Amino acid sequence: MPRVPAMLDLVRALGWLDPQRYLDSPRATTAQLTRYHTPDYIAALQRAEEEQSVPAEVRERHHIGAHGNPVYREVFRRPATSAGGAILAARLTRSGGIVHVPGAGTHHAFPDRAAGFCYLNDPVIGLLEWLDLGLDNILYVDIDAHHGDGVEYAFREDPRVFTLSVHEAGRWPFTGRLEDRAGGHARNIPVPQGFNDTEMEHVLHSVILPILRHLRPQAVMLQCGADGVEEDPLARLSLSNNAHCAVVRALMAEAPRLIVTGGGGYNPWTVARCWAAVWGTLDGRAMPARLPPAAEAVLRALDWSRAAGRNPPEHWFTTLVDAPRPGPLRPEVVEACQAVLQGLPPAVRPARAG
Ligand SMILES: [Zn+2]
Repeated sequence: MPRVPAMLDLVRALGWLDPQRYLDSPRATTAQLTRYHTPDYIAALQRAEEEQSVPAEVRERHHIGAHGNPVYREVFRRPATSAGGAILAARLTRSGGIVHVPGAGTHHAFPDRAAGFCYLNDPVIGLLEWLDLGLDNILYVDIDAHHGDGVEYAFREDPRVFTLSVHEAGRWPFTGRLEDRAGGHARNIPVPQGFNDTEMEHVLHSVILPILRHLRPQAVMLQCGADGVEEDPLARLSLSNNAHCAVVRALMAEAPRLIVTGGGGYNPWTVARCWAAVWGTLDGRAMPARLPPAAEAVLRALDWSRAAGRNPPEHWFTTLVDAPRPGPLRPEVVEACQAVLQGLPPAVRPARAG
């Protein structure tokens, strides 16, 4: 399922793709990738692409061709290009600004192994680039339905990057419990099934923004996975894409530098509409109530082998922004939000140039 091309086609059909401000991601070099990943792992991934198969020891040691990380035609090139996009985004925002890298967001990969269909950890590689450019106070926010375990792991001993993940409780990879703070500069908010727009608004205003205002980061990276939207087949959250856009709007108003990545999302219509709406939000576009014919045609051309794809509802073709999905604000969400604010690292002074 070509998720990013579909989203870009939609953005183009809306007239929102300005060629002056659009760049293709370069492929990251081996040297750039081994800033985080082990040389053995990168070599194994390159070899898996060349040979289109892997020996048993590679499956065992690096989880390539196993554990839900299949060998496919571009199993090295595609993730290396997303990582190149994350690096380029960090460089472009060196002095400020906003970059959207919808192909990035593979937050589960580890230094020497693939996980959860993530082969290279492009958020980590982008964050390391920011650190290498001299930033030392960065906030990573992850609203994918799954815990951003690989990013939390990467910076567990580096207080320059504070990681905050909002994800469905009890779902793979089963990490990111409320008590898990990775030495103090990580916070996790596991949320119950049916997590709705009202609850995400609460998380935004009572945790994400207070932490941002407390830490005063020089830069924010948002992993904006679309699998928290209700129609996603893998998760059981009930957000509308308004929730994603609201988080984006709030962060772009306060972050001196912002990178927004993609992430999970397994319903092609949901993903294309969510990330196109995020693109439009970042670009200050007015959201159309009904899509113009060219945009509708992009969505009508998508197909999906799952049962839900056989009879998609009309609004998946004709609208960009979902109807809001408000709901009850449950006590467990309120309590989790209060708990994670306890014991934050000391506030950072505004000082420091850049
Ligand atoms: Zn996910």
